[in-house]
Amino acid sequence: MKSFADLGVNKDILKGVASLGFESPTPIQQQVIPLVLQEKADMVCLAQTGTGKTAAFGLPLIQLTDLNRKQPQSLILCPTRELCVQVSRDIQAFAGHTRNMSILAIYGGSSIDHQIRSLRKGVHIIVATPGRLNDLIRRNKVDISEINHVVFDEADEMLQMGFKDELDAILAMTPADKSTLLFSATMSREVKRIAGKYMSKPMELTVGKLNAGAENINHEFYLVNPKDRYLALKRIVDHHPDIYSIIFCRTRLETNDVASKLMAEGYNVDALHGDLSQAQRDQVMQKFRHRSIQILVATDVAARGLDVNDLTHVINYNLPDENAAYTHRSGRTGRAGRSGTSIAIITGRERHRLKAIENKINKKFRQRQIPTGKDICQKQLLNLADIIANVEVDHTQINPLFADIADKLSDLERDELIKKFLSLESNRFFKYYKNAPDLNIKEKTGKRPQKGKEEKRQSAGKNSRGPEFTRFYLNAGKRQGILPESLMARINQVPGTSRIKVGKIEIKRNATMLEGDSRFIDQILGAFKHAEINGKTISIEVAKGKPAPRKRPRPDRKKMHPRKKRKFKSS
Ligand code: AMP
Repeated sequence: MKSFADLGVNKDILKGVASLGFESPTPIQQQVIPLVLQEKADMVCLAQTGTGKTAAFGLPLIQLTDLNRKQPQSLILCPTRELCVQVSRDIQAFAGHTRNMSILAIYGGSSIDHQIRSLRKGVHIIVATPGRLNDLIRRNKVDISEINHVVFDEADEMLQMGFKDELDAILAMTPADKSTLLFSATMSREVKRIAGKYMSKPMELTVGKLNAGAENINHEFYLVNPKDRYLALKRIVDHHPDIYSIIFCRTRLETNDVASKLMAEGYNVDALHGDLSQAQRDQVMQKFRHRSIQILVATDVAARGLDVNDLTHVINYNLPDENAAYTHRSGRTGRAGRSGTSIAIITGRERHRLKAIENKINKKFRQRQIPTGKDICQKQLLNLADIIANVEVDHTQINPLFADIADKLSDLERDELIKKFLSLESNRFFKYYKNAPDLNIKEKTGKRPQKGKEEKRQSAGKNSRGPEFTRFYLNAGKRQGILPESLMARINQVPGTSRIKVGKIEIKRNATMLEGDSRFIDQILGAFKHAEINGKTISIEVAKGKPAPRKRPRPDRKKMHPRKKRKFKSS
């Protein structure tokens, strides 16, 4: 197998990649690096996300930079701010041992003055989103007249996002004899248009099969009745206790709906969609990257550029409108040599869509049965046994009380003791899934057995009967960017409680009224104590002068969903 040195990479860059733990070049790097180093040619490179394309163009561009000339020499254009930040971060890391190399990320939503100051000092490589770069060109703050290489990264997204005018304006400022490199997952109409318009006789490289799904991604589908989609999703998630996943929805509304419902049921999730401010998006992405949330519910656009390598699953809650988007979605798992699973939850009417996608990805979907309650309980039990086996014991906390505790439990045999520990966590699942019906469609009749009470209520869009609520007043509202899901996420993160029910949330201009489970008043107050949301320090109090808390029927505890927040075990 070839090494990076065999490809002609210099020793400073070799140190850079070695410090990132790259041992050998990926197939795309093996093909692209020598070509960029040796030739001045335009190139269209079709490769899935996660194949190592950033290093494929980044390493030779660093090496070709004349460090004595403090002038932009390479320009990398990215469709989103997230991808822009990610690519510039990667290139900084590759150039970690290359002295005096200056790389600048230029994107909207951050200080333009800072970017102007950096440009004034001189930069070698610019990684930019078209909107902000064009803005700086119009203000005459950036000179790209001596650029040697232009890279279009994720070019298929670029025109779809409406950057045509900006691209025209930017490219017009670059010299005619530059090389243009285009990277895309698919050879879409947009890619052909960019190649036709901005490139001259580009050579075409395909890494792997054209439009093919990555080899190490399994494609699976679950067939459901339309109104059971959400219940099926929960069962799939419950059946994979260590899931680390993006759930793709078609619209912002659907994203919000699914995320809010999952949050309210205690799942460790958050939502990413276009209604969030940039600061909120950054915060959610950060939490997901650090795994303090286990599942991200997102629209296609919002998830672009989110660079996470070790997703176990991608879930298509609904199939995307465009089949090509399925390739993008599924390409978020099975990255950097890992394997992953892309799941589609579909109804009978959508089956034909799978055929078209199968043709596109050149792989077959495997039908999976929606797990039964019994399957889920078994999986959860075994997972719990693993967690217990691996949990770290804090002897200093436990030892002083251990004799007393051992005394309390002295009547229990070992097996009984184990069963009791397991029941502590698992009873909730046993109760929720007790008598849970089979959600799989019997294909011939299109019918399936009757649902249990709780699932019936949920699939009819009704909530569980709630607890007694207390009203709380918060001193921030719409203007401060308060969203129902962020309030619920905060409350759901209260440690030591299985789940705190939230009732009505009224977000006004500068204030919010929130109903929360009266049994957890202190915990809810605590969840917002010293909290800062979008730079505003939040204060919370039990609402005064308001009618006495509404009495609601006692919850049917037995039937509440059993999901309980627990720390995500990283694999
Ligand atoms: P990219 O397709 O550039 O987004 O890269 C996907 C992931 O693969 C990133 O996390 C890279 O750090 C990683 N990666 C890229 N090249 C290599 C390599 N040669 N060896 C190991 N990991 C790599």
